[in-house]
Amino acid sequence: MNVTFLGTGCALVLKRYNTCFLLEDGENRLLVDAGGGNEILVRLDRLNVPVTSLGAMFVTHSHSDHILGTPWVIRAVATAMAEEGYTGTFTVAGCRQTLQDVRAICHMILGRKLTKYFDSQILFREVSDGEELTLAGFRLTAFDIGSKKMRQFGFRLALPDGEMLCFAGDEPVKPSTEKYAKQAKWLFSEAYCLYADREIYKPYERSHVTSLDAARLAQEMQVSNMVIYHTEDYGPDRKARMTQEARTAFDGNIFVPEDMETIEL
Ligand SMILES: [Zn+2]
Repeated sequence: MNVTFLGTGCALVLKRYNTCFLLEDGENRLLVDAGGGNEILVRLDRLNVPVTSLGAMFVTHSHSDHILGTPWVIRAVATAMAEEGYTGTFTVAGCRQTLQDVRAICHMILGRKLTKYFDSQILFREVSDGEELTLAGFRLTAFDIGSKKMRQFGFRLALPDGEMLCFAGDEPVKPSTEKYAKQAKWLFSEAYCLYADREIYKPYERSHVTSLDAARLAQEMQVSNMVIYHTEDYGPDRKARMTQEARTAFDGNIFVPEDMETIEL
């Protein structure tokens, strides 16, 4: 099983795409979030991944940098159904609020020719806190991340070797979600900026943390590998600087992926 980070940036980045990723395990493909626009289709194309090969996507929440690529994916899938005779199904998973928002946006900006596939070939799968589900062949436990800004979800994923991956969503692990992160093989954690730059980017005002905070949490959770993403643009030294800062608090392996980087899980 591997993951490709299609984007690794926060909302207003200019030099990278918004954070979203693709999980692949053999023929199974699950897209997690879609960034903020049609760049998601460009990135999937660059990977030679047809949208019709995606069994499903998981949408974490309704913020623009996560949800606005979703109608583009749905548009591409529905167009394949309308024009290329694609007969498969595509599942969009998320909490009730997120799915309502996805549907509302699609009804506003996509024609009936495409939205007519809703609930027949394009399926909306509502997830609730703590619910176990299989999505595109991946075994997940969805969880509410406890955001104060908006209802947001993350998930725990069962890996082929029996270990776990915790995708903490768009905010750091909190006491309410620690049980999903404890001793995971992988922890995917947002970090807006370096701790050294906290006065410049003000991560805490946005319910985000720094690479140092994420590393402290990863150490506390006793995970083996941590991924840091959803960052400010920074320059070519981003990976080195964030890794170096996280290293001061975390003993395990640290990954600060660039856009389009693939990691084996
Ligand atoms: Zn975000």
